[in-house]
Amino acid sequence: MKNQYVQILDIPFLNKTKNDVVNDVFHQYLKEGKKGFIVTANPEIVMQAHKDRDFLYTLSKADFIVPDGIGVVIASKMKREPLKERVPGFELMEDFLALSNLHHLKVYIVGAKNEILESAVKNIRSKYPDLNLAGYHHGYFDDDDDTVIEEIQRVKPDLVLVALGCPRQENWIKQNMPKVEKGVFIGVGGSIDILAGHLKRAPVFWQKIHLEWFYRLLQQPSRWKRMLVIPRFLIRVLTSRA
Ligand code: UDP
Repeated sequence: MKNQYVQILDIPFLNKTKNDVVNDVFHQYLKEGKKGFIVTANPEIVMQAHKDRDFLYTLSKADFIVPDGIGVVIASKMKREPLKERVPGFELMEDFLALSNLHHLKVYIVGAKNEILESAVKNIRSKYPDLNLAGYHHGYFDDDDDTVIEEIQRVKPDLVLVALGCPRQENWIKQNMPKVEKGVFIGVGGSIDILAGHLKRAPVFWQKIHLEWFYRLLQQPSRWKRMLVIPRFLIRVLTSRA
């Protein structure tokens, strides 16, 4: 459908608001019992796909990619094909959990360190008491270890949150999704750490002035080198505009 996607450096971003992603797309997948692979992509992920063809191939297997990162929205404006809004991965995950709570859905979580995951699970159980948390596993296992995917095959969750960091989480989903019958899989990066209270999201003011990335940098200064990718990404979008 026209305008449904905005192409940025060969990555097709779904041009929908967060509410539409939750209530139209995700809900529809659940109703139809369809499998889904959702990627929330920021400039770092787009640039990663440009230097790693295998990862680009992984992204091509996603059912849809949403713009998580103000850099992607700025890039869409530079191309004069503005995306409707940023769809923050953490908020999308929260909305998916809320919908799962409402419909008593089965959720599985894979990723994060054991003790952090345990705290996140505790918080999920108290905040979303009606969802069925059908299982969880920390994220420090070998890629060829099938224990987790075998459990998911058995449990048949409706929603699978995968927090293995990028690009591992997307590659893991691409690798393992074909082995299951159902479930919407989404890579959630550091969101389990936030749910656990281990990392904090930027206060709303910082989010409003689009400096959430800067707040994150202050919390995890070791990420500064990774942030340099944002200006490089914008220059690339500008020069590839033709
Ligand atoms: N993580 C994991 N297994 C791994 C690598 C990372 O479970 O092999 C978890 C990590 O503990 C954290 C989350 O993935 O909870 C996100 O990690 P990171 O901040 O490095 O991811 P990124 O921001 O790069 O997506």
